[in-house]
Amino acid sequence: MQTSSNTRCCIVGGGPAGMMLGLLLARAGVAVTVLEKHGDFLRDFRGDTVHPSTLDILSELGLKKRFDALPQHRVTGIEGLFADGIHALGDFRGLKPFPYMALVPQWDLLTLLADEAERYPNFTLRMRCEATELIRREDTGRVAGVITHTPEGPLHIGADLVIGCDGRHSRLRNAAGLRPRDLGSPMDVLWFRLPRHATDPDGTYGVPGRGTLLVLLNRTDYWQIACVIPKGGAAQLRERPIAEFQARIARRVDFLGDRVNSIASWDDIKLLEVRVDRLPQWHCPGLLLIGDAAHAMSPIGGVGINLAIQDAVAAANLLAPVLLAPGLPDEATLAAVQQRRLLPTKIIQAIQIFLQRRIIARVLAAHDDGKLVALPGAARFLLRFRLIRSIPARVFGVGFRREHIDSP
Ligand SMILES: Cc1cc2nc3c(=O)[nH]c(=O)nc-3n(C[C@H](O)[C@H](O)[C@H](O)COP(=O)(O)OP(=O)(O)OC[C@H]3O[C@@H](n4cnc5c(N)ncnc54)[C@H](O)[C@@H]3O)c2cc1C
Repeated sequence: MQTSSNTRCCIVGGGPAGMMLGLLLARAGVAVTVLEKHGDFLRDFRGDTVHPSTLDILSELGLKKRFDALPQHRVTGIEGLFADGIHALGDFRGLKPFPYMALVPQWDLLTLLADEAERYPNFTLRMRCEATELIRREDTGRVAGVITHTPEGPLHIGADLVIGCDGRHSRLRNAAGLRPRDLGSPMDVLWFRLPRHATDPDGTYGVPGRGTLLVLLNRTDYWQIACVIPKGGAAQLRERPIAEFQARIARRVDFLGDRVNSIASWDDIKLLEVRVDRLPQWHCPGLLLIGDAAHAMSPIGGVGINLAIQDAVAAANLLAPVLLAPGLPDEATLAAVQQRRLLPTKIIQAIQIFLQRRIIARVLAAHDDGKLVALPGAARFLLRFRLIRSIPARVFGVGFRREHIDSP
């Protein structure tokens, strides 16, 4: 049986929300411990879309130069492959000071945040440390720490505040009895990669077609591809030979036809079961939830990491002064974090749900004839104006109620 340790603030989950919050609190002088159940940050097909809002935060932290040195592909616009040709759909070029979205492996971003946080003696990162239960005070029931599994055995970590950044299947959320409201989604996503050749088009594309919607993210030497399918449809697809799936992709995107057989089996394809949900209440005494643990986002717009990071900045701004002062953080401060981040989360989720219902559900319900669809004339006319094309980039790339670092 392993012993116990204590910290002022214990963050469960070393994803974008947890690592950014850990860094900001450590930088402010708070004794903080981040627990991550995996032994590394290496997980393929996670949110890799780093939007201008996150680039801004990295710049405020003085990390932008080191971030720029990471392997990345910069996207200045999103285009659509339609039956009548390629049309521009979104344009980042009008955004200041960062007129692009960076596609960066999430593990590189997390490693950068971890390296920076490790500079502070009051920061501790425990890998292979999985929180399994909440510790509660016997007299008041207030959350007072977590019980964890480590390779050396169980470890009790006492904390004046526990922050759950443990993702969409949050164990802490369940342990606290907090239930998210399911907002519904008509789709799941199959993620895979195909080699990219020098002769391929060099944009980042949406490929809408009846029955299937593809997104082709240009990762310089490969295409990261999202195949959007009807909710729950993966099991049925996986019963069919992989050759059928390969043919479906080749029919839709001509220039990929010569390499679809590099998807050797269904093992090369990762399923993202899309969930859109939100906790009515993000906190209880001694515990706060942020990021995907408080609100799982639809993949539309690639906002997941970016909202998680905005949550972390808002939480650090509000919590750092309280954690630096003596005494236990009160629930009103935890409620203030939810109050600050609820509206921007609600707005983005409402837009995602509108697009899911109005466009994606209809596209997916149609019979897959392998053909591309034409862009409707009215949309073609409107998208000729850069101002219109900059709207999606502004909504998803910058978001609403943009956070800036106020913590010391
Ligand atoms: C396949 C896939 C593709 C995605 N694509 C995109 C995209 O293109 N763009 C985008 O913006 N978003 C995308 N997302 C969503 C994005 O990854 C998340 O929104 C974002 O990472 C949320 O950050 P988070 O820190 O809240 O949670 P997470 O990133 O989920 O991090 C949670 C962390 O907690 C750890 N953990 C969980 N339970 C415990 C525990 N009990 N104890 C200790 N550690 C624990 C996990 O190992 C993980 O490291 C994708 C998600 C998936 C699954």
